[in-house]
Amino acid sequence: MSWVTAVWSMNAAACLTLSGFYFAVWCKQRQTPMYLVFSCSAIAAAAISVFELWMLNSTTVDQYEQLVRWIHVPTWVLTLSFVAFVRLYLHAGRLWLVWSIYALRTVVLIVNFIFPVGINFTAVTDIRQFSWGGQMVSVPVGTQNPWGLLSTISLLLLLIFSVDAAITVWRSGDRRRALLIGGSMIFGAILAWHVPLVIWGVIDVPFFLGFTYTAIVATMGYELSNDLARVAGLARELEISEKRLNLAADSADLGMWEWDIARDEIWITDKGRALLGFDPSERINRDRFLSVMHPEDRDSVLQTLENSMRAGAQYESEYRMMLPNGQLRWMTGRGHVEFNRNGQPVRMRGASLDITKRKQAEDQFRLVVEAAPSAMIMVNTEGQIALVNTQAEAVFGYSREELIGHPLEMLVPERFGSHHMDYRHGYFGDARARPMGAGRELFGLRKDGSEVPIEIGLNPIHTSEGLFVLASVIDISERKQAELDAARRRNEMAHLSRVTTLGELSGSLAHELNLPLGSILSNAQAAQRILANGDANLPEVREILGDIVSEDKRAAEVIRRLRLWLKKGEVQQHPVRINKVVQDVLKLIRSDLINQQVTVHTELARNLPTVTGDPVQLQQVLVNLMVNACDAMADCNAPERRLLIRTAIEDGSSAVIVSVTDCGGSIPEKKMEEIFEPFFTTKEKGMGLGLSVCRTIIAAHRGKLWATNNADRGATLHFILPVMASDKASVTTNNGIG
Ligand code: ADP
Repeated sequence: MSWVTAVWSMNAAACLTLSGFYFAVWCKQRQTPMYLVFSCSAIAAAAISVFELWMLNSTTVDQYEQLVRWIHVPTWVLTLSFVAFVRLYLHAGRLWLVWSIYALRTVVLIVNFIFPVGINFTAVTDIRQFSWGGQMVSVPVGTQNPWGLLSTISLLLLLIFSVDAAITVWRSGDRRRALLIGGSMIFGAILAWHVPLVIWGVIDVPFFLGFTYTAIVATMGYELSNDLARVAGLARELEISEKRLNLAADSADLGMWEWDIARDEIWITDKGRALLGFDPSERINRDRFLSVMHPEDRDSVLQTLENSMRAGAQYESEYRMMLPNGQLRWMTGRGHVEFNRNGQPVRMRGASLDITKRKQAEDQFRLVVEAAPSAMIMVNTEGQIALVNTQAEAVFGYSREELIGHPLEMLVPERFGSHHMDYRHGYFGDARARPMGAGRELFGLRKDGSEVPIEIGLNPIHTSEGLFVLASVIDISERKQAELDAARRRNEMAHLSRVTTLGELSGSLAHELNLPLGSILSNAQAAQRILANGDANLPEVREILGDIVSEDKRAAEVIRRLRLWLKKGEVQQHPVRINKVVQDVLKLIRSDLINQQVTVHTELARNLPTVTGDPVQLQQVLVNLMVNACDAMADCNAPERRLLIRTAIEDGSSAVIVSVTDCGGSIPEKKMEEIFEPFFTTKEKGMGLGLSVCRTIIAAHRGKLWATNNADRGATLHFILPVMASDKASVTTNNGIG
């Protein structure tokens, strides 16, 4: 056998071996068409080698014509599979070039079989033989077919395609592949030009197209074998990491599972089987799985499953499994569904975790919350109520079902609604245990629309499901009521003491006036008797009248002394900050104001100079004026009951003025002074002493008290007090400079 025959045959055999090997690989991995494409390339390269050997040994023109025509079949297969391989393996090469090459090469094949001799020659006239490497080889001699140009163009397109793909791969950073596969294809496309050169008689070499293609196929095969080796390595690593994962899952009490939906087969790790109470070897399907699930949980799990299979949503559910020993185990399952190309669910993978301990802890937590003496409400970050206890139901009048899952704002009176939402957001931003709304009156909204005064303590709770806040709510209605009762009792005491004072006053008045009045009466009766007798003794009558006048003067003196006693009032001299007095009084009667639903506004001037006097007496004055103002507004609607307390500097900084303005009824103009007289009252149970006493106190402080009607409605009571001497000096100086 000649060495040419031996070498060309060996080349074909090598290609066939490669083809066979990768065909076998493709049979195992049908989802990877690349292996089939490669196998086709290799078989085509082998066929080309065989055809070439045949041509080199050919002796008749007829035989040559047949071979030249039929070699186009493996060439067509080779070109198509090379291009497909580049696209599939390198993900490179322009699509329009792919289709152009496919179309042109197919046209070449068709034209090749239309012409009698083929696309290369119109006729093969002779066979030229020459010696090469000591062996005689044959090449054809004939007239060229102009259609052969199509074959040349398709070769040119293949070259362009290869260069373009190699550049793309190079740019993407994979230079080795660009050099190996792209480079070998470019090299092969260039070397293919030896065929026309041999036919035209330019060079005398045997056809070696088969070797060129074998080189390309070998390069591709080398790359594929690298990939195979890498895949094998990855599979090994995967196996190891799977083992590690299983180990970790086992130690975390995690059972992994996979459900083949079409075959209804569930695979579960050994740990999972143990957790769910299945036998290590028993076959598990959907019905078997559901059979050991607590009947109360089945519907919800099935619903979640259905939802995941329909919408592709993440599967997540909590359920109880009934173990063979009769115990219940709480599990949580999470997984996802895999769909085929038609959108049918085919597989579901996931993991199940034993959460019995967590559930027990949650139950204990619930018991603790339930046993708490105050109302407890747990809220999530969205402001939804997650948990309440019986006390909460009692305080707000809602049932548990009406509260859970609903927004917390349903328990907040409308006027606090938006503030409350902002407060809640703020709290979750800096969640820590603290009382809510320090210093403010808090109210809750009951189901019947009434409001309940409450105190709230907030505690953040960090759970596996995120951050919650646990609010402990104390109903302080009873305490408030007790405070109001105490205030009422205080008022009643004050009233009683006023009545007692009045009683004492009238008692002493009666006692003091009894004597002079008795004397006046007996003198007047004596005068009447004298005049009745008709013997008028004028000097005696004059004396009697003189006695009456002096007794009357005595009575007037008694009254004057009493008024003087009232006036004197023993004013203590202390420096007094009038704003402080106002604030103290507001604190003192706060509960009365709330009780009467009166809103108070203050406009207190800053840096007021101090006045001198008795703070307690000044408090009494303010209390009296405010109580009168509240009484005057008693007939108004609750939102209109507004009280304004103002303090300001008056008289060029030498006095401080305080005014109490209400929105109640006005004072008739002609009674503007009368109201300050003792015993003047328009109230059913009034004594008419308050304003007269206030005026006496203010006068004792060298001040003035008076009343005016407001422009719109209601009245204002004003009093002015002189500034303390030292403060006056400093204020004046300041003013002088300023
Ligand atoms: P009493 O409060 O016991 O009636 P007062 O001397 O404090 O005694 O008040 C005398 C009267 O002055 C009241 O009955 C009322 O008619 C009138 N009065 C006092 N303050 C106001 C006010 N702010 N607005 C309207 N009338 C007032």
